[in-house]
Amino acid sequence: MILNTAVETMTQSEKTALQSQQLKTLIERVYKKTSFYQKRMDSIGLMPADIQRVQDISKLPFMTAADLSANYPFGLLTIPLSSIARVQITTDIRGAIGFTRQDITAQIEMIARSLVACHITSNSVLMILPTDFDTGLQQAAESLGITVISGCKDNVHSQIKTILDFSVTTLFSSPIPLLQLADFLKKHSFSTHDLPLMNLVCEARLCPASIRDELMAKFQIPIYTLYGRADIMSLGISGECHQQHGLHIHEDHFYPEIIDPHTAAVVADHQPGELVLTTLSREATPLIRYRTGEFAVLARERCSCDRTSARLTFIT
Ligand SMILES: [Zn+2]
Repeated sequence: MILNTAVETMTQSEKTALQSQQLKTLIERVYKKTSFYQKRMDSIGLMPADIQRVQDISKLPFMTAADLSANYPFGLLTIPLSSIARVQITTDIRGAIGFTRQDITAQIEMIARSLVACHITSNSVLMILPTDFDTGLQQAAESLGITVISGCKDNVHSQIKTILDFSVTTLFSSPIPLLQLADFLKKHSFSTHDLPLMNLVCEARLCPASIRDELMAKFQIPIYTLYGRADIMSLGISGECHQQHGLHIHEDHFYPEIIDPHTAAVVADHQPGELVLTTLSREATPLIRYRTGEFAVLARERCSCDRTSARLTFIT
């Protein structure tokens, strides 16, 4: 099942047309609304009218986390603070990312698409173990009719009891509590097979291949990952489908590029490099060609799940 067929199965020409319009509108807006972007474009003699197609993105300069810090707290906002519904403060760098209500609604829908893509639907019971993430996952799950169990304690015994009491099918957690849970079961002569779990969902940045292999060995059920980061959007930028051929990026909201980290030249698909993201739809704090410092490869062929959105595979 595909939640948003019109978007998730766009043809390349439909995608290019949409992204071109979004980028053009975005650049016109940020040039008018933020001195940061205006000064950057002026410094290289670039005008909004020079951006007509999504391919013109290569004319725009990159930005980094240092730009977030330098413009803290309001320098990158394109609308008044009174219209901001949420501000996400980043902890590792001093940054502040604003979200309007529309930005938050978009995030919830993106996460919902990803849940559906890994067959987590209204028949599922999702338990969210304590995390630092925002409420986007819970709201996305609730919007799909998934039963959400939240407010769980750190106590492993209590977690296992809740999983059994409510026949939890899906656990969202960082990997360490999951490993602790599996070890607890083993220590008490039980197995993860004694639980009704059908899949696990983890945040991609916390679940590199080695950890994923360890979780697989202990649980022997699919482990799906969702990608997010506090300086862009904490969860839902991309997510795996049930075929697990990379994380589908929501390309009506994000434009991905992979660059050579040394030369900043865009590399070909399937070639490793640094992930760069542009927030095509973001109202409050748009980020343009934001260098993530993370390494990945990009694939754009249609996935065997039938989605046409580009897929990221992180290199860890
Ligand atoms: Zn897929």
